[in-house]
Amino acid sequence: MKKFKGKAIYNPSGKAGEYSYWACNFYTGCSNGCQYCYCKRGVMAHTWSDTPKLKACFKNKAHALEVFVAILFNKKILSL
Ligand code: SF4
Repeated sequence: MKKFKGKAIYNPSGKAGEYSYWACNFYTGCSNGCQYCYCKRGVMAHTWSDTPKLKACFKNKAHALEVFVAILFNKKILSL
């Protein structure tokens, strides 16, 4: 099956794909402050923050939800 890379929902690749076929992420950053956090030191380090921020591809929270729901139904992840 072809990988799906959407704004809000995607198929994780690499080791992240071992945990789930589907993933959803609206934000960059995390306020948990774990000492071992790989995001703070890895390829995400330049965009990572201790304050979660809505991804730039979304206008606001309502738009993020709108995109999320559209993808769910258009990709038949959920059906009515
Ligand atoms: S490991 Fe990093 S991203 Fe995960 S919960 Fe901890 S601080 Fe957040």
